[in-house]
Amino acid sequence: MKNGIYLDNAATTRLDERVLEAMMPYLTDIYGNASSLHFFGRQAIKAVDEARASVARLLGAKTGEIYFTSGGTESDNWAVKGAANAFQRKGKHIVTTAIEHPAMLETCRELEKQGFEVTYLEVDKDGLLSVEDVKKAVRDDTILISVMFANNEIGSIQPIADIGSFARDEGILFHTDAVQAVSSIKLDVNELNVDMLSLSAHKFHGPKGIGILYIRNGVRISKLITGGHQEKSARAGTTNTPGIVGLAKALELTVENMAQTNKRIKALRDYFIERVENEIEFCHLNGGREKRLVSNANFSFDFIEGESILMQLDLKGIAVSSGSACSSGSLEPSHVVLAIGCPIEQAHSSIRFSLGQHTTKEEIDYTVQTLKETVETLRSWSPLFNVEKGEGKYV
Ligand code: PLP
Repeated sequence: MKNGIYLDNAATTRLDERVLEAMMPYLTDIYGNASSLHFFGRQAIKAVDEARASVARLLGAKTGEIYFTSGGTESDNWAVKGAANAFQRKGKHIVTTAIEHPAMLETCRELEKQGFEVTYLEVDKDGLLSVEDVKKAVRDDTILISVMFANNEIGSIQPIADIGSFARDEGILFHTDAVQAVSSIKLDVNELNVDMLSLSAHKFHGPKGIGILYIRNGVRISKLITGGHQEKSARAGTTNTPGIVGLAKALELTVENMAQTNKRIKALRDYFIERVENEIEFCHLNGGREKRLVSNANFSFDFIEGESILMQLDLKGIAVSSGSACSSGSLEPSHVVLAIGCPIEQAHSSIRFSLGQHTTKEEIDYTVQTLKETVETLRSWSPLFNVEKGEGKYV
């Protein structure tokens, strides 16, 4: 438990040492600008070309369909704004879900200010979208459907291939934010029927500040970032050679070890859920049990705020995340937990535990024990909970 217990792998992951090793030469000796014509530059571009080819192979894509960006947020922005800008003459309607990451939701809200109309589809109590609802939502002027592959708070996994197949039949562009999915789900852009797909390296043990937007050949969206001629003139900015090399290495390791890692993490996650449910009263697992990322457990504990739990666990050396978002100095309840139909108190008290490849059983045991004590202590301080009677009520 060297540096504390890290159960926040959905926020970011530790850089894999093998990734760092692969990046190192491009941070030191091979520092040329990949656009330069001299041998320093040629060495860099060779590494970038190899990385692009490797990433394409791992995603079932063509090399020319992989564009490097600064991360998931940029990729989502590019996909949506790029499509909106390019196809606004055809229509101004976009379909997405109510549980997207802010990278998507805020981008859609910006577009609404510019006259686009966005349908935010509801999900069921498990956090799942129905393909039928997508079908009902599209109109003649729908230019884009964007549905996240796996949710970052509750880990729900959407039927991407089915939505993609429908979108293709209708001739509507389809984008998925696969930022959370890639670490445990094997992605193949053809099997998924996607036109665009966003990824971010720091979610799978790669470096921060580098991501991908996959854009299917023939799909012409507008640029987001203008400037130089990098990325076939589609995305300007000096090529992040070490980042790209690191991303490719991280993806290779992720795919190579996926089956084994998933098995381990899922067993630990299921054990964690079972113990919490059996040993802590008045708790709720947010989201469904099936079609859920193997690394995700999201709980609400009645009569306590999520942040209080987070801070108490932090003091005991356990890092987790709460679902509430800080907005203008106050805490907003989790929009995802609200969207699955939970009461506002539950949305205020949600805590996300996201396991990773380094998580051990010893860490899970310590976390359950600490969580039990924390919840008990916080409830004993809560005016909403009567400790002697072992019951509480919201006022
Ligand atoms: N989309 C999802 C689903 C995410 O979970 C995140 C990060 O938390 C992002 C997009 C943003 O990615 P990045 O941090 O690379 O900008």
